[in-house]
Amino acid sequence: MASTFSESVNRYVDRAADLLELEEVVRVLLADPYRQIDVQVPIHADDGSVHTFRGYRVQHNGARGPFKGGLRYHPDTDLDEVRALASLMTWKSALLDLPFGGAKGGMTLDPSSLSLRELEAATRSFTHAISGVIGPHADILAPDVNTDARVMGWIMDAYSSQAGWSPAVVTGKPLELEGVPGRLEATGRGVVSIAVSTLTALGQTLTGRRVAIQGFGNVGRHVARFAAEQGAVIVGVSDVSGGRHRTEGIDVPALLADAGPGVLLKEVTVGDFITNDELLGLECDVLVPAALENAIDGGNASAVRAPLVLEAANHPITPEADAVLRDAGVTVVPDILANAGGVTGSYFEWTANLTAFRWSEERFNQELTTFLDRAFQSVWACHLERRVDLRTAAYMVGLAKVAEAVRLRGLA
Ligand code: NAD
Repeated sequence: MASTFSESVNRYVDRAADLLELEEVVRVLLADPYRQIDVQVPIHADDGSVHTFRGYRVQHNGARGPFKGGLRYHPDTDLDEVRALASLMTWKSALLDLPFGGAKGGMTLDPSSLSLRELEAATRSFTHAISGVIGPHADILAPDVNTDARVMGWIMDAYSSQAGWSPAVVTGKPLELEGVPGRLEATGRGVVSIAVSTLTALGQTLTGRRVAIQGFGNVGRHVARFAAEQGAVIVGVSDVSGGRHRTEGIDVPALLADAGPGVLLKEVTVGDFITNDELLGLECDVLVPAALENAIDGGNASAVRAPLVLEAANHPITPEADAVLRDAGVTVVPDILANAGGVTGSYFEWTANLTAFRWSEERFNQELTTFLDRAFQSVWACHLERRVDLRTAAYMVGLAKVAEAVRLRGLA
């Protein structure tokens, strides 16, 4: 039977724990989440009827600080998915040496089937349902799939109406509501920064490299923009409707102008149409899956032709596909490193909110590069010293820090 998402993540954790020779008591404490919440989220629909959704918040491990993690809205979201994503946040925050534990939230809903008023009502209802366990020093939310700055503003308002002014309960907020310049772009900027570090370590540059990107949401569109600005040739991009392709390189500013919010790539005219399957098999130097988990699995992994894959999405490659790519000599930069610009930017926003000091965008971007490069260097050093792939190295670095915090707090 195929593994669930959280079982797949646990396989990576177990491999790193074996290599670190973690003592049994620490392994037991890290094996399952600290807290899992599964709540009913009722709203009054526009037609006057009462509608309910399921909402989840999983707080995986808080040994290193308050829980931290995004909130996604998707019809397929369930508790297992949120549990897996919460675990990834624990290792990612530790790898970046941020003072956070790991958490994730989600609601099983299709936002495109709701009016704006219904979406706001569901967000407020969910926030009230979990308000007892979140807070600036308890658990801090952020945007993820199908949630954005506006949703974060509603969360801040709903929470603050109970607890008093609390911008630090959520990051990725609108700039007018104590968001910080740079956060919106931080995940995509970080992916490109890690791409540059990886290529440099491999003796290459991003300039002239052919890049294909699956997913054209907040992460994917910023990867396209920043990679193109650094001289990469964007040969393909895709979203849920399909994608656009041009061997000589897509005009990214023109594409970004055409494919604004709510516009699907099948509707724009820049480049030629391709399917998502074709995009994953494009002839390119760097493939960036930036959509959803399990996009590359045992069935399509052998179609990947890129020698370098950066996991901009969380868990876009199943363990079976990971093995296929490794055997084919493909370098995979794991999610907990490649997309860590998001939580790092959230850390800067949280810091700015707690100190009520405004960061400039220049300082934000400088610190982002510094944090990401430091994490990359620690992973690369572990990869060379222990002769393990980059994913195993990243888990080893993150896991070692969490394990030490668990020991020092006397929990073990
Ligand atoms: P988003 O909702 O803004 O965009 C998702 C994109 O994926 C959209 O373009 C959508 O059309 C596309 N998509 C959905 N299903 C698809 C499919 N089957 N095939 C191809 N494309 C498909 O979400 P996002 O915030 O850009 O997040 C994308 C990924 O990055 C997720 O895995 C998320 O967990 C991860 N991530 C996001 C952030 C962040 O700051 N937003 C941070 C770290 C990691």
